[in-house]
Amino acid sequence: MNTDKLSVRLETVAKYVPKDSRLADIGSDHAYLPSYLAKNGRISFGIAGEVAKGPFLSAEKNVMAEGLTKMISVRMGDGLEVIQPGDADCITIAGMGGSLIATILDNGKEKLTSVKRLVLQPNINAIAIRHWLVDNEWELIAEEIIEEDSKIYEILVAEKGDPLNPYRDIQVETGLLVGPFLLQRKEEAFKKKWALEKKNWKRIYDQLESAASSAETEEKKQEIMNKITLVEGVLDNEESEWS
Ligand code: SAM
Repeated sequence: MNTDKLSVRLETVAKYVPKDSRLADIGSDHAYLPSYLAKNGRISFGIAGEVAKGPFLSAEKNVMAEGLTKMISVRMGDGLEVIQPGDADCITIAGMGGSLIATILDNGKEKLTSVKRLVLQPNINAIAIRHWLVDNEWELIAEEIIEEDSKIYEILVAEKGDPLNPYRDIQVETGLLVGPFLLQRKEEAFKKKWALEKKNWKRIYDQLESAASSAETEEKKQEIMNKITLVEGVLDNEESEWS
């Protein structure tokens, strides 16, 4: 991957950045995403935010090497601390856990007033982001699921709006876990992801079953059983673990 050629994962994130955006890419690492978009005339301005020194220096180096210093501002700081209200109208946060992405958004809520679109790519735990969006009146408007190098990634796109819209005709708990748009389409990567998750939960369940019983293990078992049942309802051609 470089500033000319993104991974399929980051290309999918890029696809949802509206043309001429003022973009803030938080956790930008090498600044590949904003650099690629700037080089291709797809953003009017970019901010590459990084909390860690190594990636920050690498972002600075790449932006300078590409002659993009007028187009992209590389800033060091934690999450949305690198932007001021009004700086950006689109925010991308990619390649981190869903809980961390939700925390970054939550800690910087006051910076989101001018932001029209969020493009978020959690490596795990997308449910934490879907919860945050619902709680903060952001409406999920699109979702993608892709497989690259044997890993499955989800991309969530949100705009200000009615957060319950995507969940109207489905069971909300299921939608929050697997994604309302992804649930409708049930692509191969989706089925693969949830079959793998189910297998993993079953393994943990079996371990808990052979451990000494306590209120805590029973509660955990119930929680896992609920998730398995939920996913079985989604993977409707699969055999039930409990039959
Ligand atoms: N966004 C790039 C991508 O998707 O390829 C880089 C992903 S890299 C795995 C995650 C980056 O996020 C790291 O460079 C890390 O330093 C940065 N990061 C983690 N927590 C952060 C935070 N709170 N604020 C800003 N950057 C953060």
